[in-house]
Amino acid sequence: MDELLVLEGEPGDVAGLMPMPWRILVVDDDADVHEVTAFALGSISILGRPLELLHAHSAGQAGKILDNVAEIAVVLLDVVMESEDAGLQLVKLVRNDRRLDSTRIILRTGQAGQAPEAETIARYDINDYKTKSELTQARLFTSLTTALRSYDQLRRLERSRQGLEIIVNASNQLNAKPGLRAFAEGLLTQITALIGVESEGVICAVPLPLDNDSAPREPRIVAASGRFTPFTEHRLAELNDARIAAALATALHDRRTTIERFSATFFFPKSDEEGFAAFVETTQPIPEVDRDLIDVFCSNIALCAKNVDLVAELRRDAFVDRQLGMPNRTALLVELNRRIQIDPHGKDVLAIIDIDQFATINDILGHHYGDLLLRTTAVHLGEFFGAGKFVARLAGDAFAVVGDRDALNPESIQRCFSDPFEVMGIRQPISACAGLVALDRGSEPGAEYLKDGYLAMKRAKDSGLAQTMVFSNDLASDVRSRARLLHSLRSAYESGQFFLAYQPQIDLIDDRLVGAEALLRWRAADGTMIPPARFIPIAEKSGLIVDMGRWLLREALLARQRLSAAATFELRMAVNVSPVQVRRPDFANMVIEVLRETATPASALEIEITESVAIAGLDAVIGQFEALRRYGVTVALDDFGTGYSSLSYLDRLPIDSLKIDRSFVLALECDQGERITRTIVVLGREMGLRLIAEGVESLALRDKVVEIGCHEAQGYLFGRPMNEREFIDWFTQRQGKFA
Ligand code: C2E
Ligand code: CA
Ligand code: CA
Repeated sequence: MDELLVLEGEPGDVAGLMPMPWRILVVDDDADVHEVTAFALGSISILGRPLELLHAHSAGQAGKILDNVAEIAVVLLDVVMESEDAGLQLVKLVRNDRRLDSTRIILRTGQAGQAPEAETIARYDINDYKTKSELTQARLFTSLTTALRSYDQLRRLERSRQGLEIIVNASNQLNAKPGLRAFAEGLLTQITALIGVESEGVICAVPLPLDNDSAPREPRIVAASGRFTPFTEHRLAELNDARIAAALATALHDRRTTIERFSATFFFPKSDEEGFAAFVETTQPIPEVDRDLIDVFCSNIALCAKNVDLVAELRRDAFVDRQLGMPNRTALLVELNRRIQIDPHGKDVLAIIDIDQFATINDILGHHYGDLLLRTTAVHLGEFFGAGKFVARLAGDAFAVVGDRDALNPESIQRCFSDPFEVMGIRQPISACAGLVALDRGSEPGAEYLKDGYLAMKRAKDSGLAQTMVFSNDLASDVRSRARLLHSLRSAYESGQFFLAYQPQIDLIDDRLVGAEALLRWRAADGTMIPPARFIPIAEKSGLIVDMGRWLLREALLARQRLSAAATFELRMAVNVSPVQVRRPDFANMVIEVLRETATPASALEIEITESVAIAGLDAVIGQFEALRRYGVTVALDDFGTGYSSLSYLDRLPIDSLKIDRSFVLALECDQGERITRTIVVLGREMGLRLIAEGVESLALRDKVVEIGCHEAQGYLFGRPMNEREFIDWFTQRQGKFA
């Protein structure tokens, strides 16, 4: 029975398959008739298809067969069986109860007198009427051929009608679907209904070009089922099956539907320019579906698509950030242009806001946490700045806000981030840098303002955490000078304009010199000193820091030998390294190589890193520093307390010492600050770390530092960064007394 269910609804004329037999039901209470009929029809085929005979010996038995077997083409029916009119009762059953309108009926009677009334023949759509004696093989053949031809036509008509019903039904169903996605998913179901076999597939559509660019847009997958499901929302090009992608692209291009044996590609024309396409595949052959029917289906569906406005929604998609469900960069540009057009010299400003150290937070606390933080930030920005503002996400952790300058200014932006954000129940302190640009320069394109806003934001970032920069012409020219700086940096390096200064590090218990920190200096050709805070970020961006870093490490270690010789003991040399250097997988090897080349004992080198090394990926960083520490090098965490120190992070980093940032040392001068600094010291000691106070400028501070339990220091009080000669002079003069 299962086999029959599978076959149901499947016409026999599928290309390439064994032709399905015509099913003929022979109903007669005379066993001889069955035998004779089987003999006459057994091996012939009609209209290219063989015959399959089913035998019933009573009307009751025939009724059961009709209930269980589908697609019976012809019933060869005896009129008189268990009762005078048993045959006619069966005819009524076929037509009235079972509604088998296509099945042809050929009545056979023993004598002419048993023939039914002409009216009955017409009413029940009886095909033919023969006396048994007339049923020779030749006659039977002609009779059956006529009956089968008409059965076949009726079936085709019926399938078309069913198809049309499916189409009407599909329209009703699809019109009720809200939104593009639901529509497209519903459509996949409707296609399955139309082709009559289980299928899975993808639907893709081409968004219209935006107003201000005429470039063709890439097709996007708007819905998918079965094995295609993971590709929903992807670009068509990302589909992992080139053949299917090509079929869809062709359908979109040629505006054509193609049905193959196990797959079909539909094209739904929306208008002369617009349309979308669907690809479905099946495990069973797709039955032949009337070509006209498919065309009606496709254009009808396209009509329905107008209701959800597929293309309008795709357009809308082009303006929405998928992850956060808010306006994106394109939407921002449209909004900027709109505002500028309304009031070219208005009070509106554009702010580009970028979260500080987002990459670090993401790395330390995980991407899920990072995503939630972005979401929280988006919501907060939306709520914080007064009415009439417009918030968009640009990329990553960068947002844009447009609003009135009274509501949107450097103060309000920093205030927006003054309270910690709550993420996953954690109160996360957040800061951000922002670039502001006033939209009052006449009808300049929005893209220009956006560029300037970015520029100001980048400058703000370069000056530290929680900075806001307002765009000005000075700033623009400053940026140009930075670009020049980048250009001259390499040639400056190659022409030897860089050198190192050494700042003493003092043991506060016995006022002894223990080491020095190497600090990079740049004296330009005209003699001006360019501060590291200005050129190091540029050296990092250009990658030059990698070469420079190796060179200065060598320089510092060679100087260490000479300084140690002058001091008559082994000095420790602290060297700063940038995250860009640490990101290189050969970083630890490079350091070890330089140690060997300069014959430096590993314990005489201390590497200074900042928390931002985590940008390089915490696990990779940990590996590098563990290798160095095994070799004997010590690692110090610089500027401790200024970034997003997370305790778990501090715990994982393989470090030996903490350098307490100058701001915390200065804070020892007030009560409130002292508590924090004390806490840092307690924390460091608890973790077994050596502590070094930075920026000790006065005796009072020195005493405070000792009092809270920090035993090493660096600062102007003891010595400024000096060149090698000055350092040796300074040391000889003090004769070992440094405070
Ligand atoms: P840092 O590593 O925190 O270096 C300490 C900075 O504080 C130095 O500034 C030093 O001159 C300054 N300083 C030392 N004692 C005092 C004091 O008592 N009072 C005050 N007000 N300042 C003091 P510098 O040399 O301008 O360096 C700035 C930053 O540049 C360094 O901060 C470091 O992050 C970076 N840097 C310097 N040299 C290198 C280097 O060779 N490689 C790398 N990657 N970065 C470097
Ligand atoms: Ca340092
Ligand atoms: Ca520092």
